[in-house]
Amino acid sequence: MKPPKLRAKLALFYAAVFTLLLSAVSALFYNLLAYQLDADLHSELRERASALRGYLRFEGGHARLVYDVNDPEEAYFVGNATRFYQVYDVAAGAMIERSPQMEALGFQYTPEEVNELVRGPDFTRLDTDQVDIEFYNCLVHGTEGHPYLLQVGAPLTLRNTTLRQMLQVTLWLIPSGILLALMSGWWMAGRVLRPLEVLSATVREMSIAQLHRRLPLSGTGDELDQLAKTFNDMFGRLEKAVEQMKDFTANISHELRTPLTALRGEAEVTLARARTESDYRTVLESQLEEFAKLSKMIDQMLTLARAEAGQIKIARERVNLSSLAESLVDQMEPLASIREISLTADHAGEVSVIGDSGWLERVILNLLDNAIKFTPQGGHVTLRVSRFSGEAVLEVRDDGIGIDAEALSHIFERFYRGDPSRSKELDGAGLGLSLAEWIVQAHHGRISVDSLPRKGTMFRVSIPLAPASFSPANTPRQAQQRD
Ligand code: ADP
Repeated sequence: MKPPKLRAKLALFYAAVFTLLLSAVSALFYNLLAYQLDADLHSELRERASALRGYLRFEGGHARLVYDVNDPEEAYFVGNATRFYQVYDVAAGAMIERSPQMEALGFQYTPEEVNELVRGPDFTRLDTDQVDIEFYNCLVHGTEGHPYLLQVGAPLTLRNTTLRQMLQVTLWLIPSGILLALMSGWWMAGRVLRPLEVLSATVREMSIAQLHRRLPLSGTGDELDQLAKTFNDMFGRLEKAVEQMKDFTANISHELRTPLTALRGEAEVTLARARTESDYRTVLESQLEEFAKLSKMIDQMLTLARAEAGQIKIARERVNLSSLAESLVDQMEPLASIREISLTADHAGEVSVIGDSGWLERVILNLLDNAIKFTPQGGHVTLRVSRFSGEAVLEVRDDGIGIDAEALSHIFERFYRGDPSRSKELDGAGLGLSLAEWIVQAHHGRISVDSLPRKGTMFRVSIPLAPASFSPANTPRQAQQRD
């Protein structure tokens, strides 16, 4: 976004709307004023004409105004009303009476015009070089019903001047209004865009090291506040993700450094003096074990990193958890019997889910491995597969050392290992359950744990059951990437 461009656009838009409105309102006022002035003039002329009719007398082809000249009010009215007045004999089409002002104008209608005026409109306008006059035309009848045309007029000077002045004011008002609208639009757009500029400047300045910074909120809850809040939420999420990444890196370094230091120390001590071949063999064999643990850990880390980067695809095929569980229990049986632990499987017939057998195998192996690892001699580990409300439920139960409440909330975190004293003896980088949780979630399932210290632990995995209609032929198996 380039603020000046947007600012100019907003200001122009505002000015255009304002100009349109101002022009429309001015035109409306002008027409209303003209209409009102004309209406006032017309009613005035009607009143004058109807009063004059009362004073008019027709005798011998002449018209005369009969009124009390000693009555100042009457004399004033008649004098005023007859400034522009004339009477025509309709039958002859001849003018029989007019005021001196009309005479001075030297204007007279032809008989045809007189007839037209009798039939035509009530009001006519006469524009002369000296003055513009509005006339009211009315038919009056003399003795024996003889028709006469009475014309009472009034000058339009005041009306025209008023309208001209109004027009002049409007012509000044509109450009000034446009200028004012442009200026105020520019100012207003600047004010509106200012917080956006601040926002974009702050966002521009932000770097990974400054993710703790937050945009200021005005507290009004308006759209800009909402935008700033959205950005702040995003910074919060980014900050958390970066923190997790930092932790992960720190943990990786730590996890790798400790065994490497131990291996190096061991090699140095061994090389410090001459050894027998069997001594070397013993050291190398122990180191080989350490290397195996290290490569398992690196393998798990890589898998987790790729999983979180979305690089691992989960195949969609029908997997029968019961037969998978059975075969994995067979596979783990030798390990369990070495530790004198009874390992049994129990299932409720075919329980199928849609997913990736390879990844599901990894979850079950991890849970069985942990159960055997954390169960003392003579203990029991059971794997149960059942169905419950549309889900396949897989439970791995042991009567081993259990997990205390504090550790329970952390066991799915990366690199978390329970009691360090016992972890020393037992291998594992604390990544197995994080990976298991990711795999279960990738199968739209949940993994949970129940445990009591010294009583035992139970891990439960629930994954939606495969629909009866599911056929792998309809859903081609996706490319599968595994380490
Ligand atoms: P690791 O590979 O080190 O076992 P996991 O992520 O699989 O890592 O497990 C994390 C921690 O959870 C273990 O160090 C252990 O303390 C605890 N844990 C997991 N399973 C069990 C279990 N069945 N009984 C007791 N503790 C367990």
